[in-house]
Amino acid sequence: MDPRSAYVHIPFCHRRCFYCDFPVVPLGDRADGASSGSVAAYLDLLHREIATSPGGPPLATVYLGGGTPSMLSSVQVAGILQALERRFGLTPGAELSLELDPASFDQARLAGYLAAGINRVSLGGQSFDDGVLLDLGRRHRGADLREAAGWLGLAQRRGDLVSWSLDLIQGLPSQNVAHWDGQLSAALALEPPHLSVYDLSIEPGTVFERRLERGELALPPEDLAADLMDLTWARLTAAGYGHYEVSNYALPGHASRHNRVYWSGAGWWGFGMGATGAPRGRRRAHPRTRAGYEEALAVRAQEPAGAEEGMPFDERLMVGLRCREGVNLERLARQENLKLSQLEGLRQRLAAYERRGLLRIEGPRWRLADPEGLALSNGVLREMLAWWQDVEPLPAPAL
Ligand code: SF4
Repeated sequence: MDPRSAYVHIPFCHRRCFYCDFPVVPLGDRADGASSGSVAAYLDLLHREIATSPGGPPLATVYLGGGTPSMLSSVQVAGILQALERRFGLTPGAELSLELDPASFDQARLAGYLAAGINRVSLGGQSFDDGVLLDLGRRHRGADLREAAGWLGLAQRRGDLVSWSLDLIQGLPSQNVAHWDGQLSAALALEPPHLSVYDLSIEPGTVFERRLERGELALPPEDLAADLMDLTWARLTAAGYGHYEVSNYALPGHASRHNRVYWSGAGWWGFGMGATGAPRGRRRAHPRTRAGYEEALAVRAQEPAGAEEGMPFDERLMVGLRCREGVNLERLARQENLKLSQLEGLRQRLAAYERRGLLRIEGPRWRLADPEGLALSNGVLREMLAWWQDVEPLPAPAL
């Protein structure tokens, strides 16, 4: 089935944060997308990619992420939305999301984005603590975050913005329960309708990895990290947020429709350098450099469109289990031409998780208990993938 969602990657940032390994192009603290030749050249490529894509049914969700998309002017953002609309169309009420970085936009620019059609914003706050923000290499400070969140709340109350989300990072170096509790209180005081709470992960090639190797990074031990996660769940669910995915919480009616597409296996288009898409179920990662992206576009222009494959079984398993509602494993197995008896081997591998109540098997549906099972999802997923390596699918039936 053709996707009805698109992710568009805007790779520009003012500077690279110390923990970040995303495909980004740092332009300097004073850079602005509207006057940068580098941004203009990239947008030309992006427009070319969208205009020459196969097209498909109207899009129900669009997500402009990065990078720092708020380095673009509202005219540049409007241009991307118009290009998508020309190629695909947009459904009435489509969810059109934009990532914003505090201190990279003001109220006038926000008004321009909303006038361009953006109706959902994801604010990359990460922390309210200036010392932490400095350690992370972020450019904004707690006051910038509070101010930006205030503008978003105001826009939502006025009906100019349908929803907005605040991103936070938990499990930061030297974090303790009291500090994290204070961060959650600060976040809840801003009343974001949606919260994404990510665990810090140390990625290869980052400043954080080098600090860790030098013994300069005091990461919370495992039991403290679990306490922080439990606290997040307790505080946010007590405040009325539903935990609809490992890292995502939302007030009723504010779960991100675009996020759900990633985990549902429905597929999405990916546009831009470093973007990942899964059109018609086939996962594709774009080159992570501008030169590679430009070259790939040139090569694609020469290629005939090929037959699409389904999203691999292990990916569908992983994305399904990250959601609170879990995954219909029997249906997945049938689609993969597996015997249901083959699932017994997987059940045995995961028996310890099931005995502890972390994995719930309810008829055909397998799901992780919320929050304890979701918090341990990496262990369960590792077992599942190890099982999948050994499974022999049946020969495909003759057509
Ligand atoms: S602003 Fe976001 S994308 Fe840019 S370097 Fe920092 S973490 Fe990475």
